[in-house]
Amino acid sequence: NEPLEVVDPEIATVLELELGRQRDYLEMIASENFVPRAILQSQGSVLTNKYAEGYPGRRYYGGCEFVDVAEELAIARAKSLFGAAYANVQPHSGATANAAVLSAIATPGDTILGLELAHGGHLTHGMKLNFSGKLYNPVAYGVDPDTFLVDMDVVRDKAIEHKPKVIIAGWSAYPRHLDFAAFRAIADEVGALLWVDMAHFAGLVAAGLHPSPVPYADVVSSTVHKTLAGPRSGFILSRDTALAKKLNSNVFPGQQGGPLMHVIAAKATAFKLAAEPEFKERQERTLRGASILAARLTADDSRAAGVDVLTGGTDVHLVLADLRNSPINGQQAEDALHDVGITVNRNSVPFDPRPPMVTSGLRIGTPALATRGFDDAEFTVVSDVIAEALKPGADVQALRARVKTLTEAFPLYPGLQQ
Ligand code: PLP
Repeated sequence: NEPLEVVDPEIATVLELELGRQRDYLEMIASENFVPRAILQSQGSVLTNKYAEGYPGRRYYGGCEFVDVAEELAIARAKSLFGAAYANVQPHSGATANAAVLSAIATPGDTILGLELAHGGHLTHGMKLNFSGKLYNPVAYGVDPDTFLVDMDVVRDKAIEHKPKVIIAGWSAYPRHLDFAAFRAIADEVGALLWVDMAHFAGLVAAGLHPSPVPYADVVSSTVHKTLAGPRSGFILSRDTALAKKLNSNVFPGQQGGPLMHVIAAKATAFKLAAEPEFKERQERTLRGASILAARLTADDSRAAGVDVLTGGTDVHLVLADLRNSPINGQQAEDALHDVGITVNRNSVPFDPRPPMVTSGLRIGTPALATRGFDDAEFTVVSDVIAEALKPGADVQALRARVKTLTEAFPLYPGLQQ
């Protein structure tokens, strides 16, 4: 029972360096966030020792009386937070949740219709190397080449042409709301099931700041660790219980064995926190931060430097910087921001003329900085730093100093030592 520093100093060093990195850089990867100390506590707890195959009250292992309470709380809180009649909180990750959803509502060989990966869709929505592309027959709708928006007439045409078993609405890189009612109408017209993957925007939905897919979809899947700010993991919801048995059995035993009870306990806490006014206020700052960033990257000096923003702005927690007219490509832009202390990821833009490892875009998100405490004033500074860093010949030292002022003013996990 020696501490980590003694048992495995090499790994202890990794933890220490990673904590330092998270403290010293401004985290703007749109899919990341910082969990509260309370969640770190559950995840590092003795619950990691427990096997609990099955569901609360119906386990294949003894000694589940306490972990049952955690899972029941997580289920009840997820249902109440999102107004769902059904919740499964066992998926280890978003991808596992999605594998369970597809195996519950489609049969291998069935056609599935989702957003094109290169236009902001996710691997699990039909990418050819993913299970979804190998087991099913994926077809895709893309965004409009002029507006970069999903055009529901195109979705309808594709649905009529391909008669999919499942229509998927959801994205990893798209800066606007999807029209869930229109997706529902198309699904009904062609006799498809509608699955919404709200992994990215679940926190905004929980806060009432984004339309909820729950009333429209047959099934909704999500991660817990993006805008929702909980432990790295997934969950599944449904507006009614029609698919409950199928969904449960396709999570366990269909896709998974023992649930991660330490993570499920942490999910319960995340759902509890997401129902509180502080969470809503944080999501409001997240959205304002993204709008401030979009406005800055569409200002005259940015446009003159070849930087723009896809769709001209954002309704959500991320901005898609468009570098097609910039001499700096996505890879160089990612590196330039890293040099000034800001972490983002490069991202292909739809119809990208540059190759996927280079790209002509950046995906920049505000959830983690909102969690760190940033408000309009700080988002204005960081947006200016980004705009300046993306211009050729930027003063890297001066920009790094501005970032340092922000990281020092908003300490992360004060007092925590790995
Ligand atoms: N679904 C969407 C829309 C996502 O963006 C992601 C994560 O990037 C996932 C699912 C998969 O989540 P995970 O990385 O937990 O498997």
